[in-house]
Amino acid sequence: FASRLRDATLLRQQAFYAGAWQGAINGETLPVINPSSGEVLCTIPALGAEETQRAIDYAEAARKSWGKTTNASRALLLEKWHQLILDNADDLAVIMTAEQGKPLAEAKGEVLYGAGFVKWFAEEARRIYGDTIPAPSEDRRILVLKQPVGVAAAITPWNFPIAMITRKVAPALAAGCPIIVKPSELTPLSALALVELAQRAGIPAGVLQVVTGLPKEIGETLTGSRTVRKISFTGSTRVGQLLMQQSADSIKRLSLELGGNAPLIVFDDADLDIAISGIMISKFRNAGQTCVCANRILVQRGIYPKVVERLLAEVAKLKVGDGFADGSTIGPLINAAAVAKVNAHISDAEQLGATVLTGGVSSGDGTFVAPTVLGDVTTKMRIAHEETFGPVAPLFIFDTEEEAINMANDTPFGLGAYFFTENIRRAWRVGEALEFGMVGFNTGSVSLEVAPFGGIKLSGIGREGSRYGIEEYLESKAFHFGSL
Ligand code: ADP
Repeated sequence: FASRLRDATLLRQQAFYAGAWQGAINGETLPVINPSSGEVLCTIPALGAEETQRAIDYAEAARKSWGKTTNASRALLLEKWHQLILDNADDLAVIMTAEQGKPLAEAKGEVLYGAGFVKWFAEEARRIYGDTIPAPSEDRRILVLKQPVGVAAAITPWNFPIAMITRKVAPALAAGCPIIVKPSELTPLSALALVELAQRAGIPAGVLQVVTGLPKEIGETLTGSRTVRKISFTGSTRVGQLLMQQSADSIKRLSLELGGNAPLIVFDDADLDIAISGIMISKFRNAGQTCVCANRILVQRGIYPKVVERLLAEVAKLKVGDGFADGSTIGPLINAAAVAKVNAHISDAEQLGATVLTGGVSSGDGTFVAPTVLGDVTTKMRIAHEETFGPVAPLFIFDTEEEAINMANDTPFGLGAYFFTENIRRAWRVGEALEFGMVGFNTGSVSLEVAPFGGIKLSGIGREGSRYGIEEYLESKAFHFGSL
């Protein structure tokens, strides 16, 4: 795939920490695999505790001077980085498709979406305002100063190899925090290319570092450090809980964006064109591998036959294939374990009485899975309770609005939810009753840099993007003036 790159120097195979591009101290490496073919693309350093500690020390050395720079100068650096990401968007997309599998056009879309966070937080950097508070006596004044939390770390997943990094790094840098990124070991090349571009933009070496390698060792070093004041994590609830436990000793600030089990409700009075396109975007984007993918599609009885007919017609238009092949809209899943989980959900549903309307358990040992629609799904099935993370649309039937709301909320997760109706009174009722961090009404998309993204319950804490996203990297210092 390197031959597809206009600028091959974006393909970095070393980590960037303690001021240099370098490998692990013991020279160990990990392979990076193309999920489409199983081919080893290259290797990256397998860093552990010692290298991570060096990165932390280096970030701490950079902290004070970075925190003192003007907001406008940090904004300028972020704007330069943003422009370089746009200028190199085609190459970044190639790197992403090679290591993650998503179709090239979708990868390019993610690069632009990811760049949007850099631009947004470049602008927000200029608007980090504090407060003045009316004092209870004449000789006092009270101010609230917004100050950077200190050294931050980002631990990111493989499903959005660029956007999950920029939505953490850009607000950290804007707020005045140095940040260390540990990308997924499955998709490190996109992260390394981003940091190469940050270097070219003039972002200081101590302010943005990337440590590739062993998740457990790196995670324990980051969470165990008192110098690291903040961890922002996107990934599984299991690892999020672990990081929260490990961070208890140092009382760290945490942002956790964890698993979801998104309901998507189609009421009898929905506009079917809008509902079907909402299902397609929220279910099949990234081959169903997003934490806000519709995991349970709840359809009111009266409209159910029409939804099935229209959905099957749309699903038939999807094209499964290698991300570099012309016209592919569904790439491979990330690895064999992901395929096994999808297959297990389909066969469990089948055994408990669901109907396979299209697709089904994949044959063969590759990572490609046919888009699948299951009818007559019930809450007894695994697919109702666990995140499938694949291109499987399970259809449930409900009768009343109250039943739909109860079914939707019947999950320990609370990230994304969607519903479709033309009735404005119902829209308010349902929108307010859904216990989720993000609700889409007549839309299947809730991820934009301008709006807060995040969950409640087991889906996490904190928000990314929007003006709220930068608060995660700021402390509020109460500054009291007395005896005036
Ligand atoms: P997923 O199931 O989506 O791969 P994970 O939670 O396993 O989600 O992975 C998300 C990120 O967490 C990745 O960067 C991964 O390397 C990292 N990770 C996995 N295990 C640990 C751990 N024990 N400590 C710290 N980070 C971890």
